[in-house]
Amino acid sequence: MSRLWSPVVRTLTPYVPGEQPTNRDVIKLNTNENPYGPSPKALAAIRAEATDGLRRYPDPNATALKAALAERHAISPNQVFVGNGSDEVLAHIFHGLLKHDDPILFPDIAYSFYPVYCGLYDVLYTTLPLNDEFKIQLEDYSRPNGGIIFANPNAPTGRGLGLASIEALLERNSDSVVVIDEAYIAFGGQSAVGLIDRFDNLVIVQTLSKSHALAGLRVGFAFGNPTLIEALERVKNSFNSYPLDRVAIAGAVASIQDTDYFDSTLQRVIETRERLVAELKHLDFDVLPSQANFLFVTHQHHAAVKLLHTLRDRAILVRHFDHVRTSEYLRITIGTDVEVDALLKALKEILG
Ligand code: PMP
Repeated sequence: MSRLWSPVVRTLTPYVPGEQPTNRDVIKLNTNENPYGPSPKALAAIRAEATDGLRRYPDPNATALKAALAERHAISPNQVFVGNGSDEVLAHIFHGLLKHDDPILFPDIAYSFYPVYCGLYDVLYTTLPLNDEFKIQLEDYSRPNGGIIFANPNAPTGRGLGLASIEALLERNSDSVVVIDEAYIAFGGQSAVGLIDRFDNLVIVQTLSKSHALAGLRVGFAFGNPTLIEALERVKNSFNSYPLDRVAIAGAVASIQDTDYFDSTLQRVIETRERLVAELKHLDFDVLPSQANFLFVTHQHHAAVKLLHTLRDRAILVRHFDHVRTSEYLRITIGTDVEVDALLKALKEILG
């Protein structure tokens, strides 16, 4: 602490991202990156953008990217907001749409950045417990609130919600903003993007970090009613005119347009996930059903923290969340088949 800090800084508890080791030899299954890498067309577009043109500012409105997203989702560009990763988009949502007199609601087990934004922007919140099977109970969200946010599929559980229960939630909460964080939706969930014309209180957040294998490019977006999008533009234009650089815009457009590559890599991740589920169950792990590119697992006889460290000694990184309800679980990102085989080999040796 320093006497020179603004008072609010003393109160912050910042988010701690998963480890990014410099050693390339580790098997990195800890931050839900996509093992197959970006579309070759996206990489070509990124390289083509690295010219003398970088002396000029990018388009502050990222018009080409909004057009590509609008076309992909059959919506209009004024229903699209873009930002520097979905973390930044979420920050603007907490600031611009979720700060009201009543507390916002989110699950007790959720993306751990949500309470951090509440701390930064002074947003009141109440968490509602997942049930014993780690399912979100949307019926519990029928109480006065300043807004609702959850991830679908949820993180770090991987469990998904169906559209019918989401529609019912939107109908019950027509006077508050409902934000659905669809960071992992492409790996098997049902997106609610198709509902934005019917519900003017719905905001969907997505990212290129996971399904498009572009975590390093930092591109995220939100879809919703033009009035909600306008609120986000007002916050963004009071914060940073150019959150997306020229390289990011070019790479993002090409990636979104390369649907064949997208579909084929997703399919590979899903196939590996299903194989890993079966193999882990065979090794006496309880595995939550996952619609994401990770599994949330607990072993019937071995402590999670011990497994975390033993895997780490073998240069395999997975993620552990040290909270009451999650301390016996590990979150394992789906890697390539070779990486998953190495994980299974290590686990077989460790478990005997
Ligand atoms: N939402 C969820 C549920 C996540 O797990 C993550 C990744 N940590 C994000 C949003 C943010 O992703 P990004 O900023 O890379 O788009």
